[in-house]
Amino acid sequence: MALKYIDQMDLQGKRVIGRFDFNVPLNESGKITDTTRIDKALPTINYILENGAKTLVLMSHLGRPKGEAKAEFSLEPVATYLAEQLGVDVVLTESCKDKGIRTLLELPGTKVILLQNLRFHKEETENDLEFSKMLAQYGDIYVNDAFGAAHRKHASTYGINAYFPRMACGGFLMKAEVEALQKIVDKPQSPFVAIVGGAKVTDKIKIIERLLTNVDSLLIGGAMAYPFLKAKGYEVGTSLCSDEDVKLAKNILTQSSARKLVLPVDHVCSKEFGGAPVKVSEINIPSDLMGLDIGEQTIAHFREKLSGAKTVLWNGPMGLFENENFAAGTFEVANILAGLKDAFTLVGGGDSVSAVNKSGLSSKMSHVSTGGGASLEFIENGSLPGVQALKFGLN
Ligand code: AMP
Repeated sequence: MALKYIDQMDLQGKRVIGRFDFNVPLNESGKITDTTRIDKALPTINYILENGAKTLVLMSHLGRPKGEAKAEFSLEPVATYLAEQLGVDVVLTESCKDKGIRTLLELPGTKVILLQNLRFHKEETENDLEFSKMLAQYGDIYVNDAFGAAHRKHASTYGINAYFPRMACGGFLMKAEVEALQKIVDKPQSPFVAIVGGAKVTDKIKIIERLLTNVDSLLIGGAMAYPFLKAKGYEVGTSLCSDEDVKLAKNILTQSSARKLVLPVDHVCSKEFGGAPVKVSEINIPSDLMGLDIGEQTIAHFREKLSGAKTVLWNGPMGLFENENFAAGTFEVANILAGLKDAFTLVGGGDSVSAVNKSGLSSKMSHVSTGGGASLEFIENGSLPGVQALKFGLN
């Protein structure tokens, strides 16, 4: 059964309740330092307000208050920013459990209500059904546009769906994310090349195994590469490389699909983390150096593997890209992807997304996913609990 989206719902006169991802970074004085997550929710919110909804209740979490009301995690800055962007009053409740919320929804002047941080209540992360039921009372239609939280089985993303038979749907951000990720998961157009970087093999082992089943090539960069190189018997010097990760890499290398792996053949190293850069033009890294970026030959090799690709997935930087001495590999990969003709390019995962944004090339990618953990889990499992739950009441 296909998922329904907000533009397939009759909103006329309805009370809508929506789960959004307003988990924005705040500075010490409580000011929002990056509004991207709220901005991405605006098309859905505006659509609801412009298409006849009687009221709109907005829900989100912010940070990890661990079940307690803590002032530093208040959604107040979000309410202020939303009111500015929407040009309407946004009433922030004291708590999700305020007795007066239902009465407030009946008042003629009230249109938009933002519930205070969902995670001030431990019932949210426990997926408590009574809590879901209470939230469900605030709407006739439920919309989930919080893709970044859809890998969680929480009361506002999962349990709540049970109370909206045929009345649950996804928002526009959810739609864009799901449709883009489905292109990677369901029959990606070949040649399909994935690039995986970053620091920890442990975190990405499942995605590597999953990708090896359907990619044509899997390029490995960043600190991810060293456990694989070590497992193959190469010297990695003092590079980030735990015994546990080498074990995991060895395991993958025993599988026949491991022939699709493409590893670095040269490196940019340093004597210490973030120190002066030293080029190492071969696979083996001297014992007193650590690898911090992929080298020029590797970049050329990756470029060759990517030429003609029809589908490309990129997760994780190719090196310590936050330091300009070790950023070339990551930015070159962004450049290569930006220059591909007729390819579907998807960038997912926090650090590769910030690298693409920093390179100014995000508009040249087919899709830049907003949800780090969520996009990885989607690729690993083919969907997410919060997405599947939207289908609960369809039958
Ligand atoms: P992840 O969260 O696993 O995607 O890792 C991202 C982090 O890995 C970034 O902060 C990078 O600076 C870091 N990283 C990537 N390559 C290396 C490397 N060769 N050595 C140390 N850190 C690295």
